[in-house]
Amino acid sequence: MTEAQSETGGRVTISRRGADRLRAGHVWVYRSDVIEAKDVPPGAMVLVQELSDKNVRPTRARPPRVLGSALYSSASEIAVRMISPKPVDDLAQLVRERIRAAIAHRERFVQDTNAYRVIFSEGDFLPGLIVDRYNDLLSVQVLTQAMDSEALRNIFVSELRELLQPDSIAERVDPRVRRLEQLPEKQSGLIFGTNTSTEFQMNGIHFLYDAIEGQKTGAFLDQRENYAAAAHYARGEALDVFCYQGGFALHLSRNGSKVTGVDSSRPALEIAEKNAGLNGREVEWIEANAFDLLRDYSDAGRQYDCIVLDPPAFAKSKQNLPTALRGYKELNLRALKMLRPGGILVTCSCSYHVSANDLLDAVSAAAVDSHRILRVLENRGQAKDHPTVLSIPETVYLKCLIAVVS
Ligand code: SAH
Repeated sequence: MTEAQSETGGRVTISRRGADRLRAGHVWVYRSDVIEAKDVPPGAMVLVQELSDKNVRPTRARPPRVLGSALYSSASEIAVRMISPKPVDDLAQLVRERIRAAIAHRERFVQDTNAYRVIFSEGDFLPGLIVDRYNDLLSVQVLTQAMDSEALRNIFVSELRELLQPDSIAERVDPRVRRLEQLPEKQSGLIFGTNTSTEFQMNGIHFLYDAIEGQKTGAFLDQRENYAAAAHYARGEALDVFCYQGGFALHLSRNGSKVTGVDSSRPALEIAEKNAGLNGREVEWIEANAFDLLRDYSDAGRQYDCIVLDPPAFAKSKQNLPTALRGYKELNLRALKMLRPGGILVTCSCSYHVSANDLLDAVSAAAVDSHRILRVLENRGQAKDHPTVLSIPETVYLKCLIAVVS
């Protein structure tokens, strides 16, 4: 890299603590570890350097240690997201290569679906970019200043169009993220093409998708492999609690089996019913608060052969972890009381702040209180199109425990 090129994006000097974090394999530097980011424009690519000694200014004889290239945010608490441990000359080229590699990863590891996450931000070394594919429609989420730049948008849109040839590309905007990144307000809408809705399939089950309606990215692709696992073990009467548009419920419903889905969102249940129709399945959908319904049903002595618990993230931050854990325990306690001997519990948590062990502890405490014994069949996580990087704990968030009850 020439001096001129590095000047255009600028340099960010970080503390020893920040540098140690990078050396341990993480890719984020928090603002509190940034010592200097003079004249760095929002969203620029920067060279990241560490001062060898915080009391000594760099000199020709004692140059700062360069740790690689990163994308800079002038607003986020995560000021720096590394993109390479080496100085990058051509960002456009790097982004194109990473997109190609992300697609190759899916071709290798993702099966039985035409809907999957194509790009998972840090999990695919493209921090700030999420792309989901639903059959012929791509759904894009931009999470950082850098990815929102016109230059990078043009690159990822043209690369995705060339490689995946979608009919349409929609952008889903999270207003909260844009505020945090100090980006101008924007509406969700199409970037390319004319279709905002489509139909997709996973594990042979068909679903409707709408890129503009719906919550999160519209469907829970991260659960795809867990749906198949749950379907593998389940039999008989099933209850899918927090069913949303019927992901688990439809996988559990087979000819002759009775499945009930519960959710507090009527719009979600309306789509769930359409999804059931699409697959020629009959499922009973109940609009209710899951906590109330589980209490009423367990008090009334109802029994099931399989219960799925897939609540929304209860712990949005570390502070409400204790409350969240009480919530998980309560749900699991109610569910365990209603499972017949030999029944299957599928219990999930998508809170990053709730670790796999936290969930196991909550379920274990629920088992003790309900005098049931649980034997673990599978301890699962998110599907392989949501790659988890070992040195970046934030890329791991979904837990799914499948157990048999006696
Ligand atoms: N299992 C679903 C995803 C669940 S997302 C799937 O695989 O597609 C969490 C769901 O919980 C949302 O649909 C939301 O509407 C619902 N929800 C949130 N709080 C609830 C409550 N107190 N009672 C019932 N449903 C609730």
